[in-house]
Amino acid sequence: MKKLIENILNVFYPRCCPVCQKVLKDQNRMICPECEENLHPVGHPRCFLCGKPVNAGEYCRDCEKHHHLFDQGIGIFVYDERMRRSVTRYKYYGCREYGDFYAAAMYRFGRKEILRWDPQLIVPVPIHRTKLRMRGFNQSEYLAERLGRYTGIPVDPDLVQKVRRTPSQKKLTAVQRRKNLESAFRVTRKISEKRILLVDDVYTTGSTMDAMAACLKKKGGEKIYFLTLCTGRT
Ligand SMILES: [Zn+2]
Ligand SMILES: [Zn+2]
Repeated sequence: MKKLIENILNVFYPRCCPVCQKVLKDQNRMICPECEENLHPVGHPRCFLCGKPVNAGEYCRDCEKHHHLFDQGIGIFVYDERMRRSVTRYKYYGCREYGDFYAAAMYRFGRKEILRWDPQLIVPVPIHRTKLRMRGFNQSEYLAERLGRYTGIPVDPDLVQKVRRTPSQKKLTAVQRRKNLESAFRVTRKISEKRILLVDDVYTTGSTMDAMAACLKKKGGEKIYFLTLCTGRT
């Protein structure tokens, strides 16, 4: 029955390739064979802390300059033009099925790190309820739920709330920016889990991860890691 419903849905809403956006000839695939061959995860050398690709050295320029509050993390793909387009369609244009491919890739290419970090809980980066109403879903929660299924690690999408929409941070100093972001999140309970894995779609400056790590560490979290689908270049 489930298969039948899936087949009917595929006729009306055929799955598209998350990278080239073409309708998948084989509807059982998550990505077309051509794109699969051309899409490579970030390899080494990469920043020891945030996982961004680097030319040489242990840390990226950003991590050399700033002290991060999270412990370690990686993003799977470079946030280039095709991934930017893909994530935009996923977040804003109803291509939610792209999330299935994203989560599968995050698990496949991030598995080694997840095993090493051994997190006791997966927590998606929350979005403000106004945004949630507009968007209809939290893109990070979708990924976190699927990663939870792959790994068997519990997922708590309600542990951290985004209580305030973050206003433009452009005019603030680095310290003000950090304070501003930290107060935008609220941890809803005391934490008994020591190692927590944060999940999001894109890692850019790390300010969100830092803010969440700061809040979680105040409530008893000890090691805060992150896994994102994409990572910016430095
Ligand atoms: Zn494709
Ligand atoms: Zn870095």
